[in-house]
Amino acid sequence: MSGFDAILFDFDGVLADTEPLHCACWAEVLADLGVTLEWDFYRARCIGVDDRLMLRMMASRASPPRDWQELWARYPAKKDLFRRRTLAAPPFDPALDAYLETLAACYKLAVVSSSSCAEIEPLLEAGGLRRHFATVVGGESVLHHKPAPDPYLLAAERLSARHPLVVEDSEAGLASGRAAGFDVLGVTAAGMRDALRRRLRAAPQHLL
Ligand SMILES: [Mg+2]
Repeated sequence: MSGFDAILFDFDGVLADTEPLHCACWAEVLADLGVTLEWDFYRARCIGVDDRLMLRMMASRASPPRDWQELWARYPAKKDLFRRRTLAAPPFDPALDAYLETLAACYKLAVVSSSSCAEIEPLLEAGGLRRHFATVVGGESVLHHKPAPDPYLLAAERLSARHPLVVEDSEAGLASGRAAGFDVLGVTAAGMRDALRRRLRAAPQHLL
């Protein structure tokens, strides 16, 4: 087996434990539209899914049901709320910076997310992590989102990577990586580093 030449990280739930905060911010800005968003539903149905698809689901479950575009109109408010809360307290494991520095010495690294670059890049900067990544693919970077292969194919193209490893926490994200024809590793934010170390050790010439 040949070694990996790049590692493509999902953001939410992999590099940062942000999904509970995304859920809380959406719940807050949608509450007066009759949308009740609970963590169990969000975790099961919304993680890794494009925001517009997620809002279509929520609009049909609202009481009374809503036009999804009424919900979409709250996106700027949700984005602003999320940004203020995360910039106040960047949601990264303190050990992540040093780990990514070690990885970046051996592999090209990218972030591949359904969230927008406008949400992700300031957080990476605030956490001191942006310098480790050669590129960031966000939701606005592609026409077709996860589980389509497009986001991971675009990242690999930007890095000129031929054998990347995709690191993901959601079914939609894992399906996207597989559809792109790449090896995938399913992780949680809390267990990401240990799982990645084990996976890289299993490949010859990878000692991290
Ligand atoms: Mg994720």
